[in-house]
Amino acid sequence: MLPLKEKDKPIVQKLLSAGCCARCVLRFCCVSVQAAYRRPQQDTLNELQAFISNTENSKSQDAAAESTEGNNKSHDAAESEPPDDPPSKRAKLEPSVPDAPSEEDTAASVKLKDGESCVCVVCLGILQELCGTTQAVKIAEAVKAEKYEFDTLVLSVSLPAQLCVREHSCWLHVKKELREKSVALDKDDVIQVKEAFKWILQGQVAKELGGVAVVTRSLFEVGVEFTHPETDADCHFLSSTCPDCFKPTKNKQSVFTRMAVVKALEKISDAKFLKHSPCPPAAATSSCIPQDVQCLHVSVFVAGRYNKFCRSLPQTPWVIDGERRMESSVEELIAAPILSSFRASGFNFSSSGREDVDVRTLGNGRPFAMELLNPHKSRLSKAEMKQLQETINNSSDKIRVRDLQIVTREAMSRMKEGEEEKTKSYTALIWTQKPIQSEDLTFLDDIKDLTLDQKTPLRVLHRRALAVRQRVIHNMNTRFLDSHHFYLGLKTQAGTYIKEFVHGDFGRTKPNLCELLKTETDILELDVESVDVDWPPSIPE
Ligand code: ZN
Repeated sequence: MLPLKEKDKPIVQKLLSAGCCARCVLRFCCVSVQAAYRRPQQDTLNELQAFISNTENSKSQDAAAESTEGNNKSHDAAESEPPDDPPSKRAKLEPSVPDAPSEEDTAASVKLKDGESCVCVVCLGILQELCGTTQAVKIAEAVKAEKYEFDTLVLSVSLPAQLCVREHSCWLHVKKELREKSVALDKDDVIQVKEAFKWILQGQVAKELGGVAVVTRSLFEVGVEFTHPETDADCHFLSSTCPDCFKPTKNKQSVFTRMAVVKALEKISDAKFLKHSPCPPAAATSSCIPQDVQCLHVSVFVAGRYNKFCRSLPQTPWVIDGERRMESSVEELIAAPILSSFRASGFNFSSSGREDVDVRTLGNGRPFAMELLNPHKSRLSKAEMKQLQETINNSSDKIRVRDLQIVTREAMSRMKEGEEEKTKSYTALIWTQKPIQSEDLTFLDDIKDLTLDQKTPLRVLHRRALAVRQRVIHNMNTRFLDSHHFYLGLKTQAGTYIKEFVHGDFGRTKPNLCELLKTETDILELDVESVDVDWPPSIPE
C-alpha cells in the first residue's frame, strides 16, 4: 500500500491528468518512503489509479476538485496563455471528470495507458525507464572497465537545468489546487527528482558491483549526467526576468546552470512565471539522454625529498616556444613511476623552493609533494611505497628520492608555511679576477647575519614582479682552492638569490661578494646542501 492520505487525492488526480509519471506523483505527495519508489512503475500507477477512483467520500472531494479545476482553467487562460500547445490530453480529460464515476474510471485508465508510453512532463523520463536495470548495468560496467580500487562510492546525478523549471511549474499547478483547500505544500517538502532517482538506482548499482556500499559521502564518485536538448530553451526566459542570475562565467559553457536557474526561480513571481511558462509543463516527445558515466577518485598526495646530482636537469619540463630544451626534468623522473603505481591520470608537483637547472641538490634533499589526480588505486602499503621509491631510484642516476610517503592535503601545506623563515645551506665554487690568498678570505667567516637588498634578478624578471627583497645570509665559511678559486659555504634565509649575491647582478644585489672582496667574482658551480624544512617526517631506511 502506498502511504497516501485522503488529502493527496486531488494532487494525484491533477498530476496524472497533467502527464506526470507515477513516481513524480509520489514526490509531489511528499512520500518519503524509499521503497515506494523502488516498486515497479506499473504497480504504483495501478494503485494510484485505484486510489483516486474508489470510495464514497471521494465524490465530494471530486466535486470540489471539479470546481477548482474550473477556476484554474480560467486562471490559466488569463495568465499563462500557452501559445500553441494546449495540452490536448487534459482538454480531453477534464470534461470527463464529472460526477459519473464510471466515466471517470474509463478516462483515468485511458490516460494511464497513455501515460505509460508517454514521457513524464516533469522528470522527462528520469524516474521512468532511465532508472532501471539497464542504467544500473551501464554504470557498473563503466566503473568495472576502469578498474578502480575503492571501498564505497557515491553516486552523483546531474540533471538538465530546465527540469527545475518543469518542477516549478508543476508545483504551482498543485499549489493552486491546495490553496483552495487551505493546505500548504512547501516546495522543500517535495521529494527531489535526484533524490528519488538515487533511492531507486543505488541499490541496483550496488548489486551490479557485487555488494559495494553506495553511500552519501565517499572518496570515489560516479557521475551520471543527463541532457535533454529538446527542451534546452525552456529556461531561457529566466535570463530576461532575472539578468543578475545569469552572468557569464569563464569555465561554464552555458549561463543556464542549475544553480542559476534555481536562484532565478526563487526570485520570480508566480504571475510572471506563468506568463512565460506553461502550467502544468508541456509534453515532451523524448526522454532525457544519458551521457557517459564519469568516475572520479579524489586526489592522493605523496611527499618525499629529492636529491639532484646533475647540472643539466631542470626541475620542471623546460619548454621554450613549444620546443623541449632538456630531455627530462626532476618532476618527470619522480612522477612517472608514481603515476603508474597509483594509476593516476595526472599530477601537480610542488616543492620547498627550487634549484636552477645547473644546481645540484645534495644532503638530505629538497622536500616535495605531488597531488595525484584521479588515482585508480589510492592505497599502497609501507612495503609497496618502499618498493616504489626503489623503482624511482633505479630508474635514473640523476636523481634520488627518500622519505616517500602518502600524506594528507592538509599536511602538504606544512611544506609551504613559513617558507620565508626557513634556512638553506649552499656550497658555491667562486672565481676571482684578482689573485687571492687564503688570508684574504678569512674575514668572510666572521660575517654574521648580513642583510642583502636584492632587486628582482634580471634572469627572472620576465616571470617575477620587479621588487626589492631583503634577505639574510646567516653565516659563511670559506675553503681556499687556488689563487683564483675558493669554495664558499653559505647558510641563508630561504629565497636568497645566491648567484646574484656572488656576481652582484650589475649592482642590483647589495652588498655583494664583489664589493666585499673588492674584485670581480663569479660563481662557477652551486650546490644546495640542505633545505631545513622538517617535513615530511623522515622514514628510517
Ligand atoms: Zn516523472
